[in-house]
Amino acid sequence: MLMIIIFQGLLYAVIAACMGMIKMRFGFDIFGFYISFIPIGSLIIGTFISKIFYDMLKAREIQIRWIYCITSIFFVLISYYGMKYFVYYNTYIDSLMEINYVGIGNHISEFYNSDTGNSVTFHEYCFQLNRGSEMIGMIGGNGYSLNMPNMGALLEVLNPISLVVMVIIMFFTAKPSIMYCKKCNKYMNEKQVFIFNTGDNFANTMLEKIEQCTKDEEGVEILREVIRVNQELRGTSDEFVVGNYNYCDNCNQLYLVLIRYTINKQGVHKKHGIMKKYVLDEKFFRLIIR
Ligand SMILES: [Zn+2]
Repeated sequence: MLMIIIFQGLLYAVIAACMGMIKMRFGFDIFGFYISFIPIGSLIIGTFISKIFYDMLKAREIQIRWIYCITSIFFVLISYYGMKYFVYYNTYIDSLMEINYVGIGNHISEFYNSDTGNSVTFHEYCFQLNRGSEMIGMIGGNGYSLNMPNMGALLEVLNPISLVVMVIIMFFTAKPSIMYCKKCNKYMNEKQVFIFNTGDNFANTMLEKIEQCTKDEEGVEILREVIRVNQELRGTSDEFVVGNYNYCDNCNQLYLVLIRYTINKQGVHKKHGIMKKYVLDEKFFRLIIR
């Protein structure tokens, strides 16, 4: 796990360094991309960076755990401000009061913000002089200024918030509803065994039967009955349950996992989390063709 977290930190740092270089070399700064107040750039980067990381975990059969969401938040914030500092550190202003990143003229910290009168520290640079991350406005003397300083701070705060929000959303999206076999360090296989609408007495009976089958001696027969009866959805209900076997090829662990779905007015199915899971005995394997 430590190796994965180190790798994650490096991955985010490399992406941040690349983005800093792109900004300085080509003047393109994705964090300065807003539509109205919505920081589109941050939303895109938050999605992209999380997707790369979670896809890598999935490809290597590594369980997507909460800890990685927390470390993602940590690294994404560090990388974001790291990138900003990297750009700030390389920002110089020449005699024509134009910004360059190649060391011509004086470093930006030697100037002052003509609105606040403060010298341009990193904090001042981030929260007062930036619009997103693009410095705008210029008022004579040696000072840079922004017409609406508070707006700059607001836009600046929206960037890290959006990054964090996307990291969290992507965590929930990426987390598979398939169970993970901790013994064999891999995701289990999944096979659907039944499906039925919920919200009526019939469904409640079925749910009771499922509950019963995991405890009863005749459990296999009871589950067989559930499977036989319920393979059709009624058009009138807007909610249904899918029962899946989650099983590990290696160690033969078997679970029955119930997942709830809802159907909206347009007929689109929305998958909700795992509703219930039951450990099943190996003898239940008979019910599926492997
Ligand atoms: Zn296993």
